[in-house]
Amino acid sequence: KVNGEKFEFQTEVSRLMKIIINSLYKTREIFLRELISNASDAIDKIRFLSLTDQNALSLAPTLNITIWADKENKVLTIADSGIGMTKKQLIENLGTIAKSGTSEFLNAFEENKADMNLIGQFGVGFYSVFLVADKVIVTTKNNEDKQYIWESTAVNDFTIAEDPRGNTLGRGTQIQLFLKDDALEFLDDGTLRGLILKYSEFINFPIWLWTTQSQVVEVQEPDDVDAKKESTDAKKDDDDQPEVEDVTDKPEEKKERKTTTIEVPGWELMNTQKPLWTRDPKNITDYEYEKFYMSLAKDSNLPFAWTHFKAEGEVEFRSIVYIPGKAPEGLYQKVQDYSRNVKLFVKRVFITDEFLDFIPKYLAFIRAIIDADDLPLNVSRETLQQHRTLQLIQKRVIKKTLDLITDLSKDEKKFQDFLNEFGTSLKIGAIEDNKNRKRIAQVLRFPSSYKGSNSTTLGEYINRMKKGQENMYFITGSSVEEVQNSPFVEGLVARGYEVLYMVEPIDEMLVQHMPGHGGKVFKNIAKGDFKFENEDLAELQKLKSKFTKLIDEMQSTLSDQIEKIEVSARLTTSPCAVVATDWGWTGHMEKIMAAQPF
Ligand code: ADP
Ligand code: MG
Repeated sequence: KVNGEKFEFQTEVSRLMKIIINSLYKTREIFLRELISNASDAIDKIRFLSLTDQNALSLAPTLNITIWADKENKVLTIADSGIGMTKKQLIENLGTIAKSGTSEFLNAFEENKADMNLIGQFGVGFYSVFLVADKVIVTTKNNEDKQYIWESTAVNDFTIAEDPRGNTLGRGTQIQLFLKDDALEFLDDGTLRGLILKYSEFINFPIWLWTTQSQVVEVQEPDDVDAKKESTDAKKDDDDQPEVEDVTDKPEEKKERKTTTIEVPGWELMNTQKPLWTRDPKNITDYEYEKFYMSLAKDSNLPFAWTHFKAEGEVEFRSIVYIPGKAPEGLYQKVQDYSRNVKLFVKRVFITDEFLDFIPKYLAFIRAIIDADDLPLNVSRETLQQHRTLQLIQKRVIKKTLDLITDLSKDEKKFQDFLNEFGTSLKIGAIEDNKNRKRIAQVLRFPSSYKGSNSTTLGEYINRMKKGQENMYFITGSSVEEVQNSPFVEGLVARGYEVLYMVEPIDEMLVQHMPGHGGKVFKNIAKGDFKFENEDLAELQKLKSKFTKLIDEMQSTLSDQIEKIEVSARLTTSPCAVVATDWGWTGHMEKIMAAQPF
C-alpha cells in the first residue's frame, strides 16, 4: 500500500460514478467489453508509433491482452502491453471527462433515456469498472515516464503514486478490479470465457485468459510404465523393421486402461478468427456481419445493410460499409467533429479513425472499415488525408455506398424503412454532391397527386407526364394534407397533371440546387407566371378584359402588399390564390425562414 498524491475527480466524473455505483444494472458485464476495448486501443496506439519509431516496442515486444482472476483475493486483472499512460495522462484520462457527449449522457441517463450499455459510445467506458468493483488499481507504464499506480474507491477522489517496485510491466497497463461481493461471478473461468468470446471476437490482438481446464488423462500402473518404456526401447533398436500393428494387444489394453480427470492451469487463447474483412464474403454469415457491426459501431441495434468488397486496380483495399439500423442521434446537427465512423487500417494495422470530411456529410451515417495495401505505413495522420491514394479510396467508398443504396431501392418496402431513417441525408446529398447528384436523384422519392402513390421516383413521374408537358410540377408545404388542398394543385390535377408534393423542409433547397432531372425542369406551381401547354389564349384574353375593372380596384387597394394581380387559368374552383414571384419566397419558404433561430 503506497500513499499517493490525492486528486479530486472532476464534478461530472463524480456525478457519473455515483450513478454507476448505485445502478443495479443487470448487464454490468459490459465493463469487460469496455476494458478490453481500451486495451485494444492502447495496443493500436503503440503499434502505430512503432511504425516510425523502431524502439517503441522494445520494453515489451509482444502485443497482447491478458486476463486472470485471483479467486482468493477476489481480484480480476486485465493487462495489456499497449501504450500505457504517463502520470499526466493518468490524471487527464481517468479523472476528467474531456468529451462533449458526457453531459448529454448524464442527462439522458438520469431521465432514464439512456442505457448503461451505451456508456462506451460516450467516451466514458472506463468508469463502468465501478459497476462491479468497489476498488480499482491501475498500474501503468508509458515509454516516456515511470511506472505509476492510480487507485480509487470511486466517488470523489483518486490517488496517484510512483510505483515503488519500479518498472515491473515493461510497458502497458494493468487494471485490478477488487470485486464487489455480489460480483464474484466474474472470477469464474466459464463466465469470463463466455464474456470474452461474446465481446471480443473482433479484437485484433491475442487475448489470453488464465484458466484451469479439466483434462482426462490415463492413469498408468507402475509396471505398465515399464512395459511402455520397454516397447519404445525395442522400437529404437529395430529401426529398420517395418512397423506392424499388434492387433492382438488391443482388446486387452482397453480392459486395463484407467482414466482420471486432473485440473491443468494455463493460458488459453480466446480469439482465433482472422479479421472479418480479410475473409472471403462467401464464407461469412449474416450473423457474423451483424455481430461485427455491433462491435465496430458500439451499436446495440442490428445494421440495416452492408457491402463487403475488395477494390482492385488503381487502388487496392478491402472494405465493409454498413448502414446502421437507426439514424444516430443528432445526425444533422453535428458540426466539425471527427467522424469516428470510418476506421482505416493499412495491412491489418489500425491507423486512424480521426478523419475530417473523409465521408461527405450526407453519408455521415455509414460505418466503414477500410484496410489498404498501398498507403505508406509511416504517413502521419495529418498528411494522410491529402494522400492521393486515400482520395481514390474515398471516391470508391462513396461509389460503393451509393451502389448499396441503389440496390436497396429495388425493394420498395425495405427502401421505405431506409428513407424513414436517412431520407433527409439523401436529399442533402443531391444538394451537395455535384458529381453524384444524378445518381442520388434517381432514388429519391416524393409523395404526389398520382392516385395511390405516396412515393414516386422522378423517373416514374416523367414516364407519366402528359404529352407535351415540359415541366415537372411540384408544390412545397409542410404536409401532404396541406398541399393537397391547395388551389394550385386543384387546378392542375383537374387538368390531368401530376403534382409532386415536396413537404420536407429540405425540399425547397433541393429544387434550388437541382433544377431538374432526366432533361425535365422543376416548376413550382405556386410561383411566377404559369402557362399550360395548349392554353386557350383567346379565352384568357376575353376573361382578362372582363375583369379589368375588378383587377384595377384590387390593385390599388392592395398596392402595399402585392406586386401585381393577374387573371389566370391555373385555378378551377377556387376564386383566387396568392402566388410568389419566380425569384421570391413561397409562403412555405417564409414559414421555414421565420422558424430559423438565427
Ligand atoms: P474512450 O476509450 O472512449 O476514450 P474510456 O473511458 O474507455 O473512454 O477511456 C478513457 C481514456 O483512458 C482513453 O481514451 C485512454 O486514453 C485511457 N485509457 C483507458 N484504458 C487504457 C489502457 N488500457 N491503456 C492506455 N490508456 C487507457
Ligand atoms: Mg473506451
